[in-house]
Amino acid sequence: MMVAASTKGAPRVVRLSQFTTLGVGGEAELWVCHDLPELLEATTAPYRVLGGGSNLIVSDAGVSERVIRLGGEYSKADLTPEFETDTHVFTGWVGAAKPIPGFVRDLQRRGLSGLEGLWGVPAQIGGAVRMNAGTRFGEMADCLVALEIVVDGQAKVFTPQELGFVYRNSNLPQGKNGVGIVTKVKLKLEKSTPETVQERMNFADEARKGQPHWRTFGCAWKNPVGQSAGRMVDQAGLKGTKIGNAMISLEHGNFIVNLGGATASDVISLLEKIEATLALPLEREVEIWGEI
Ligand SMILES: Cc1cc2nc3c(=O)[nH]c(=O)nc-3n(C[C@H](O)[C@H](O)[C@H](O)COP(=O)(O)OP(=O)(O)OC[C@H]3O[C@@H](n4cnc5c(N)ncnc54)[C@H](O)[C@@H]3O)c2cc1C
Repeated sequence: MMVAASTKGAPRVVRLSQFTTLGVGGEAELWVCHDLPELLEATTAPYRVLGGGSNLIVSDAGVSERVIRLGGEYSKADLTPEFETDTHVFTGWVGAAKPIPGFVRDLQRRGLSGLEGLWGVPAQIGGAVRMNAGTRFGEMADCLVALEIVVDGQAKVFTPQELGFVYRNSNLPQGKNGVGIVTKVKLKLEKSTPETVQERMNFADEARKGQPHWRTFGCAWKNPVGQSAGRMVDQAGLKGTKIGNAMISLEHGNFIVNLGGATASDVISLLEKIEATLALPLEREVEIWGEI
């Protein structure tokens, strides 16, 4: 692949392993879009959209589509209340490229409650919306009031009710060249205090204590209703199963970790091996990009 000049907005070829929390993935053409004109140009050909890269296994061969990442105006947040009630604040637009960890910390300092259940999720707002990321302390859709989505050359505003949010999924509009790109959201947040929000973040921290510290993409599988996918893997004695340098975490059966130098093929072979061994089918939470 030719490497294009890396001026603002110009595409460049990168290894996606640098942009995924798992640390695997081959080459792709990266388009960083700072504003709507750049985004409209980037979406004139088939594309994929990358957030924090924390729910992805990208093929070792990379992907042929353009990979779009948001920056610039999509990294800003207007937290000045558009209006407020005695109990709630309705924010202005919050950019989809905002990383969740820093944003939740900012809300905590302001005593605004609603997203602290996502404390510890290494996503961007846009990726958290797409996946309806969450924990037992709450999920992204709980706070959404309005969303701006760029699809088929237009920025349109949607209500959350139009986007079919369910457990770890949403139904974003499908465009000709790729799925609609969440660019901004408006949020409804509860008035609280920094101390109370911090206390809830501490609960979220506590709940993560059994999770691994290796490179990973979070949970591999969705929890079947009333069950825990991690417990199913554990009870089948599959913790520690290894292919190449990919391993089922010894700490938590729903996590695959990269012990260093794992490839996408190692990780996918491991997913398939576990799925073939378990008696009950598991639905994948992680998304795979490109040909394996
Ligand atoms: C250590 C660790 C802990 C985790 N804990 C949790 C947890 O507690 N709960 C949970 O739900 N998840 C968890 N995850 C998984 C992951 O963080 C979530 O699935 C998150 O929503 C992915 O967001 P992202 O920005 O990283 O998206 P990416 O991984 O970059 O992309 C995921 C999907 O979202 C799409 N997407 C990204 N940005 C946009 C956008 N702007 N518009 C439209 N589509 C977009 C991508 O195209 C892709 O389809 C964890 C992951 C890790 C590594």
